[in-house]
Amino acid sequence: MSVEQAPVHRADFDQVMVPNYAPAAFIPVRGLGSRVWDQAGRELVDFSGGIAVNVLGHCHPALVGALTVQGNQLWHVSNVFTNEPALRLAKKLVDATFAERVFFCNSGAEANEAAFKLARRVAFELYGEEKYEIVAALNSFHGRTLFTVTVGGQSKYSDGFGPKITGIKHVPFNDLDALKAAVSDKTCAVVLEPIQGEGGVLPADLAYLQGARALCDQFNALLVFDEVQSGMGRSGELFAYMHYGVTPDILSSAKSIGGGFPMAAMMTTEKLAKHLGVGVHGTTYGGNPLACAVGNAVMDVVNTPEVLAGVKAKHQLFRTRLEKIGEQYGVFSEVRGMGLLIGCVLTDAWKGKAKDIFNAAEQQDLMILQAGPDVVRFAPSLVIENADIEEGLNRFERAIIKLTQA
Ligand code: PLP
Repeated sequence: MSVEQAPVHRADFDQVMVPNYAPAAFIPVRGLGSRVWDQAGRELVDFSGGIAVNVLGHCHPALVGALTVQGNQLWHVSNVFTNEPALRLAKKLVDATFAERVFFCNSGAEANEAAFKLARRVAFELYGEEKYEIVAALNSFHGRTLFTVTVGGQSKYSDGFGPKITGIKHVPFNDLDALKAAVSDKTCAVVLEPIQGEGGVLPADLAYLQGARALCDQFNALLVFDEVQSGMGRSGELFAYMHYGVTPDILSSAKSIGGGFPMAAMMTTEKLAKHLGVGVHGTTYGGNPLACAVGNAVMDVVNTPEVLAGVKAKHQLFRTRLEKIGEQYGVFSEVRGMGLLIGCVLTDAWKGKAKDIFNAAEQQDLMILQAGPDVVRFAPSLVIENADIEEGLNRFERAIIKLTQA
């Protein structure tokens, strides 16, 4: 039974929504695979993946199936009870990663909040109240709660909200000497994104992550990897830390883990998990059966050799063509990233124009992303058809041509 709904338009946004976003002029109403349709029936190619979320594109049959079956069975019970989908998904994550224990929550910020609280709790209980410093990277992004904006190294997100969480130090990313200078006996955690996402799609150097691991071991600090953006197959491995062979103590995952259903996880070892005993931390919806049913389906499809190998192959398709476009029109100085998290760094002549490129792409019926004003970002579905990659890149090239002629 469907209920007739009143028509709504983009203009309504400004009348009824808090103005913290500036959404595009069109409203998407339907998606299938890597195609999206707007209210007017216009078809767009989606290279944005809901900001690295729609890991299997739109309305993937495995996800729709899992959601529908679970939707007819049990939606929510709270954490007063456990549930089958949550236990199944936790087992899968434990089997596939370094982690031995999982805490489910609803967003990347919440997964990081749990990670940072755990790191502080462990230090407090094992070493006393003087060991609370968190060392994080400048230009990093960890979410929008007060703790996570403070750990994130971008003052534009953390200034202007009164006193910040204290005990956070920031150092330049990929600078091991700076990290060495910042870490001390007072450090409880070093927090890093293996690939800085919002900060410009910047992968960490191997020696940097190895050095961070060694420093943490030396100073009894925990290594926290924020894989909210880089995780769940996006890099071509299940998690980006697997490329590096550097294992964290705590890992946060969100975005792709739910394939579009809001969910997230904080993963850690048994020894550390003990410090979050009954009642120490929690969230009403975390590990909700509906979310975890979808999470199980995501994991079953993504964590297969075919899909992960496909991500690496599709990376090459993007890279080859983007490098060519970059050279031909003098627009990119570098194409970087891993798997299907790709950043194109704008040349000096194009600096600050990522938003213009975003708009020009939309005019060509293509959804892309930026990562700051100087980097164009692509985070499509991991199972995007090669034909859609080609068509989307054709549209992208047309957008660049239009801009060069403007
Ligand atoms: N951490 C990283 C690396 C992210 O890219 C993001 C979001 O972009 C977050 C955390 C925050 O996740 P959420 O918006 O789900 O809270």
